[in-house]
Amino acid sequence: MSYPAPEPDYALRLLDGDLPADPLFAEASRLRDEGKGKTVTFSKKVFVPLTTLCRDTCTYCTFAKPPGAGGEYLSPENVMAIVVAGQSHGCTEALFTLGDQPEKRWEAARNFLADRGHDTTLDYVQAMTERVVAETALFPHANPGLMSEDALRALRPSNPSMGLMLENSSPRLMEPGMPHHNCPDKEPSARIATIVAAGRAKVPFTTGILVGIGETPAEVVDSLFVLEELNRRSGSIQEIIVQNFQPKADTLMRNDPAPSVEYFARVVAVARWIFGPEMNLQVPPNLTADFGIYLDAGINDWGGVSPLTIDWVNPEAPWPHLDQLESATQARGFELKQRLPVYPEFITEEWIDPGLIEQVRSAADADGYAATTERASV
Ligand code: SF4
Repeated sequence: MSYPAPEPDYALRLLDGDLPADPLFAEASRLRDEGKGKTVTFSKKVFVPLTTLCRDTCTYCTFAKPPGAGGEYLSPENVMAIVVAGQSHGCTEALFTLGDQPEKRWEAARNFLADRGHDTTLDYVQAMTERVVAETALFPHANPGLMSEDALRALRPSNPSMGLMLENSSPRLMEPGMPHHNCPDKEPSARIATIVAAGRAKVPFTTGILVGIGETPAEVVDSLFVLEELNRRSGSIQEIIVQNFQPKADTLMRNDPAPSVEYFARVVAVARWIFGPEMNLQVPPNLTADFGIYLDAGINDWGGVSPLTIDWVNPEAPWPHLDQLESATQARGFELKQRLPVYPEFITEEWIDPGLIEQVRSAADADGYAATTERASV
């Protein structure tokens, strides 16, 4: 008997536990195998926390800090030192993750930028990602928060792909007492506008949802259908990340529970069911105790794994050793391959800037994965 076509009511019953998990997982695995075969990917990266200043105050975040309490920018010299060290470890991605528009809140941010001739943090991201592609073998993947279409177009020549998590489509999470209260950059309509603009600017885009921050299962389902609809219109979403909230000490949400593995795995499988065979679906491997269950739930990517920088957003969660990731992946019958930050199917003239396409092609093998001759150990 064939599995039902994706629709919100059935998706909600799956998340509510009203329907059995085994047929869902079987369908998610079938869809993944149909679109991705037996290949599971990861990206060997360095994490570049360009600034830990942010104008927002998400109540689960320990990444952002005020000036004088750890909130600062990386200097150009420090950025390049991280990226050059990554190059010597076989990394192919420089993930620029940073606080959102700190210059709109902090004088220290405005001063740092003005001293270096920049008006905005996004200008600084552009300058540094241009240096990275000019001077190293790594490809930047900018994840700098909200971006206008102009900003996306300005970053495109130095970023073969970019990203912004939707997190959730519900404005309810911005109400008083909720995690995105007083966080203007977490306004779902603004985040959706960035994803739409990325489609117009022809930027291969990574987005996804954050599960366990006070949203309801219905809001999870709605968020996944919103993203699926956006991708159906633009074809620009290269990857969906399904990330599980992890409570952190020193945050207002320190006593909130992380989603259970059983529930979270259902969300992952529902995402595969909604997006179908072709979408790249990722669960971050450092927030996961059991790799196998997420392979069963239909993922085909483990995201960025770093041999030398911590996950600044989840500093308590070390990256798994690559050998550990590889054995867990092989144990389920898959081959683990290193990819570039941009996925193979997006390495085309339509999706990559003309000034960057040859550099990307020369870093890829015949199938579009990272052309590594030897894998440096993580
Ligand atoms: S989660 Fe992102 S937007 Fe929110 S406070 Fe932290 S760095 Fe800023």
